[in-house]
Amino acid sequence: MKSRKQQLDVQTSRSYFMQSFYFEPMSQSEKHVFQAEIQQLLDLVIHSLYTDREIFVRELISNAADACEKLRYLQTSGQPVLQPDVAPVIQIQTDEAAGTVTLSDTGIGMSRAELVENLGTIAHSGTKAFVKQLAEAKQGQASLIGQFGVGFYSAFMAARKVSVVSRSASPDGTASEWVSEGAGGYELRDNDSTQRGTRITLELKDDAKHFSKESELERIIKRYSSFVPVPIELNGRRLNTLQALWTRSKSEIKDEEYNEFYQYIGHDHQPPLLRLHFNADAPLSIQSLLFVPQSNIETMGLGRVESEVNLYCKKVLIQSKAKHLLPEWLRFLKGVVDSEDLPLNISRETMQDSALMQKLNKVLASRFLKHLDETSEKDPSTYEKFYSEHGRFLKEGVITDFSHREALSRLLRFASSSLDAGKKTSFADYVKRMPADQKEIYCLLAPSREAALASPHFEVFAARKYEVLFLHEPIDEFVVEHLGSFEGKDLKLAEKASLDLADSPASTLSEEQSAGLSSWIKATFGDRVNEVRVSKRLVGSPAVALDSDPYMTSSMRRLMRASRKDGDSEVGSPRCDFEINPAHDLVSRLENLRHKDAALAAKVAEQLYDNARAAAGLLEDPRELLKRSNELLAELLASKQS
Ligand code: ADP
Ligand code: MG
Repeated sequence: MKSRKQQLDVQTSRSYFMQSFYFEPMSQSEKHVFQAEIQQLLDLVIHSLYTDREIFVRELISNAADACEKLRYLQTSGQPVLQPDVAPVIQIQTDEAAGTVTLSDTGIGMSRAELVENLGTIAHSGTKAFVKQLAEAKQGQASLIGQFGVGFYSAFMAARKVSVVSRSASPDGTASEWVSEGAGGYELRDNDSTQRGTRITLELKDDAKHFSKESELERIIKRYSSFVPVPIELNGRRLNTLQALWTRSKSEIKDEEYNEFYQYIGHDHQPPLLRLHFNADAPLSIQSLLFVPQSNIETMGLGRVESEVNLYCKKVLIQSKAKHLLPEWLRFLKGVVDSEDLPLNISRETMQDSALMQKLNKVLASRFLKHLDETSEKDPSTYEKFYSEHGRFLKEGVITDFSHREALSRLLRFASSSLDAGKKTSFADYVKRMPADQKEIYCLLAPSREAALASPHFEVFAARKYEVLFLHEPIDEFVVEHLGSFEGKDLKLAEKASLDLADSPASTLSEEQSAGLSSWIKATFGDRVNEVRVSKRLVGSPAVALDSDPYMTSSMRRLMRASRKDGDSEVGSPRCDFEINPAHDLVSRLENLRHKDAALAAKVAEQLYDNARAAAGLLEDPRELLKRSNELLAELLASKQS
């Protein structure tokens, strides 16, 4: 190490010359001025390209890792290198008292000429040239991170002065030092280092001194560089022991390794429920490892989860919890996506609307949906678990994301009148079971299976032996509405289905009597009912109330009521259609009664109407119903006692 005084005192070639005269009499100093446009570019890098200053650590480590990778390439291609037995390593030293950070690597290093070429020219990327050479030589492959030739300059976001001492791996070279304060230019001088590789010392700016804190640097290194394939040591301590599992071949990875990896990156004490290890080369390079957790706090009603899929480029973190990498409705996923096509130095803001992100998003979502589909075929019980925990996200996808609606609709599962309690069916299987004369897919909204089976709306389907899907969650109605149809078959809510019983049950009332009763009820109720008619869909229920607005459903009404704010005017009960079942004992007795005791008959009819509306969720205010019900009970008791 050079003396601290010497490190600090290289402002001018004159003072440097004085220094070097005393400390390194043999060294030669040259002052270089940056190209005219370079200062502008430097300003751009420092002030706008990166949003987080801490990213300079990532960039310098990436360069060091690249340098080690290049060395490995030289060695494997049989070329002689300086200190061939020195292993690749990146060593970082913090000195809080001096306010410095030093990064050393045992990589390929740079000659004096290379220092000038690689660090003296912004937007010239030595790495890029190296890759080009490689491609032309078609020899082997080195996984190199930086390709854009600006990463190194991010050091000036945090440092007021940067010193780079480097010695090339070529056995006959010597070491040189490159020093710059960003503005103006840089100085070059000889250095007597005998070590292969590069040592970069940052003298931190006053407002960036915290980067010389060990704990702070440890946090940053772990955040961005945990999976860098070269050992990283901070003040002598190894930091990165994890493998970038996603870059390894699937066949080599054991389940335990996947689980351990998931538990680390997902901060979960349980193994994942599902995983997808997916790699592609075209049209995009993608290496991804996606996990579905066992449980989801959003499903438990504990707030909204945030996607925990991190975006990497060649094992280096670009963006953690990458917002636009996957559709919103896939936010329950955790994992890693690595794409070599991503520019490493891109900042968060420009990342978001990049066309590349959109492509990644599309490919990943489609592939994940395919994986779910395959899982549902091959491993139904796991899929069932997945669906009961995360199914709501698929439903959200159907409603909010047109581009994946079709694929999502195949993954939905619903309870059904044809299945045992607790079992669920897909639309596809439902369609397979449809009898030839059935044209539509029927869905019944009900909070529970019992409620669905007891609903008057279910009767006509039971009688015709048509299967009905039971939709138990409020969101299901919107799902059905957004889908509209499945494989060309319309999805129809039971309450809106215009379906008649094949043969009406025997009624004690004649057609005239039924019609007479209907018109009498209408005349008695007046405006409180929209239409009264003889039902063709009821079997065991005396009557049913239906929303007379063809576009309104009972659950939409419930939502409207739930979303009413203080001070809004009362919603009031909607106008309903009222259907009566002449085959029901209560209705035929009512027809008889109205000729003898019209007042009591009117009261019973009102009660029947209110009961039906209450059952259908169409009665806003039950006070009348309760009052009348008590009066009827009183009359009943009085009649028994007289
Ligand atoms: P990029 O990494 O995108 O090429 P940088 O600005 O980060 O651009 O680095 C510029 C060049 O400087 C690199 O391409 C590489 O040739 C050289 N370089 C930077 N750091 C090192 C290092 N630690 N060892 C060897 N060469 C380096
Ligand atoms: Mg770089």
